[in-house]
Amino acid sequence: MEVSNNGSIEMGEPYYCKECGRTHQKGKIYQDHFKYAQNQENIEENNEIEDYNEDIESEDIDDIDDIDYDQDEILDDDIDEEYVENEIDERTLDDCIDEVKGLPGVGDATLKKLIKAGFTSLESIAYTPPSIIQEDSGLGEKTTATLIKASMKKLNIGFKSAQDLWEHRKNITRISTGSQELDNIFAGGIETGCVIEFFGEFRTGKTQIMHQLCVNVQLPLEKGGLEGRALYIDTEGTFRPERIIQMAEALDLDYDTVLKNIIFGRAYNSDHQILLAKEAANIIKEKNIKLIVVDSLIGHFRSEYIGRGTLATRQQTINQHLHDLLRLCDIYPQLAVVVTNQVQAKPDVFYGNPIQAAGGNVIAHGSTIRVYLRKGKGEQRVAKMIDAPHLPEGEAVFSITENGISD
Ligand code: ADP
Ligand code: MG
Repeated sequence: MEVSNNGSIEMGEPYYCKECGRTHQKGKIYQDHFKYAQNQENIEENNEIEDYNEDIESEDIDDIDDIDYDQDEILDDDIDEEYVENEIDERTLDDCIDEVKGLPGVGDATLKKLIKAGFTSLESIAYTPPSIIQEDSGLGEKTTATLIKASMKKLNIGFKSAQDLWEHRKNITRISTGSQELDNIFAGGIETGCVIEFFGEFRTGKTQIMHQLCVNVQLPLEKGGLEGRALYIDTEGTFRPERIIQMAEALDLDYDTVLKNIIFGRAYNSDHQILLAKEAANIIKEKNIKLIVVDSLIGHFRSEYIGRGTLATRQQTINQHLHDLLRLCDIYPQLAVVVTNQVQAKPDVFYGNPIQAAGGNVIAHGSTIRVYLRKGKGEQRVAKMIDAPHLPEGEAVFSITENGISD
């Protein structure tokens, strides 16, 4: 039975998963998918970087010495900290595990089960639905509930005063998009601490903006960055290291360092995607991640959940996924989450908005700031602020050039 894991498989139905070669049940999340995505990512990324170097070699024969040096750099696993000076936030995996160990009732056996199932931080425990923790780790209902409650308490999740909220919001910062005009509609760059959605038709620059933000987030504060790393969840296979290199060079940055500071995960289906977002909770602090990109948010959901019967489940799953991302922003005021979204070809079951982003109300209500992109003349693009709790509606014209996003 060679059925791919997209198409019209009903929820709960078994299907053969080409990626890990086993039978799965539609709608369930599999840890193996995550591992597979990670392995694939390493293979693909290495190939792409090597290909790029081969191109250079044939063009600039004179610079052979430099090229050898570059390749050594890429093979070197140590992450260069040149642009990531702010290490106060950094935690090692051991630190995270120590915190989990400190939860009430976590002995060696429980800890082993948690680690085996990938729950290596308080965040990952606090944000994962209990049923999934139980299923993946084999822990009982009561233990799981206690662990979640204790993790939430330690992370200070729950009711807080408006003053606490204000303290939290005071930490919010911004990342420059590379275009002053575009930054202006966000009052000075895209905000951290919330989910920002860019939606628009094909080739309106969504993916280009995502690439640029991954570079810019690494810049020093005074240059519009946050001196942090980016995590990129690519659902469409459109991430291009070559493009990052062009953008990095345009900013006089060492592209090896810039590439190393982008943690990349290719999501092959919606299950991968959900899992990658959950896994992100484990590494935000440890890796000093200041930006999470999901490009695109609902592409997989649209192709996997076909037919009216699946709509409710689809919306519910997207909603949970979006809330996983929103919760991360609630905890980390200095983390920006940026997602892209396609526009609906024709209005369907979702009610009347003149500009129809795919995903309907679930996404409209889930993202905090929404920006609509459309094409202008030539390399120009127009961005319109559609929905933001504290920003006026405004429009900006920006350009996409070889150097990246600019005015
Ligand atoms: P979307 O994700 O919205 O479908 P993209 O972000 O992929 O669209 O934007 C594609 C556009 O970006 C292309 O149409 C082109 O105008 C521009 N673009 C991509 N790469 C380059 C480049 N190297 N130099 C100049 N423009 C580019
Ligand atoms: Mg794209």
